[in-house]
Amino acid sequence: MAVLEIHKAGDPVLKKVCEPVKRIDKKVKRILKDMAETLYKTKNGIGLAAPQVGILQRIVVIDLQDGNGLLELINPVITKKEGSQVVGEGCLSVPNFEGEVERAVYVECEYTDASGKKQFIATEGLLAICLQHETDHLDGILFTDKAVTITLKAPED
Ligand SMILES: [Zn+2]
Repeated sequence: MAVLEIHKAGDPVLKKVCEPVKRIDKKVKRILKDMAETLYKTKNGIGLAAPQVGILQRIVVIDLQDGNGLLELINPVITKKEGSQVVGEGCLSVPNFEGEVERAVYVECEYTDASGKKQFIATEGLLAICLQHETDHLDGILFTDKAVTITLKAPED
């Protein structure tokens, strides 16, 4: 396993549309492991999309740090969105900023898990927001592209 470098806003890799994963082979499983390790190394990260570590494939890892553990999503697609809310967001690729973004309240998401099984999530709350944020990354969209307000974060530490 390896901690990967997180690419920051301004890096063209973050603006690219990612390719779907065709086959879940050893390489994809390795990417999932490395992405999880990279996510857990961050301070407050709850999600990481493959382009953030320079990999242009439709792969996302999420751990809301709420005891539900790691979600590994291959080729996630949001198939339904309902409602609208404005929420505060940050991003590991835009470390010094936070912003308010309009997001759906409820989403349904289909994806393939690491064992190749098709999975389905219907959810609200933080997971719904995180799924929208991370699947945007796979299409080259950062929260700052959508934010209604962007503010400089107070320095931590
Ligand atoms: Zn992000």
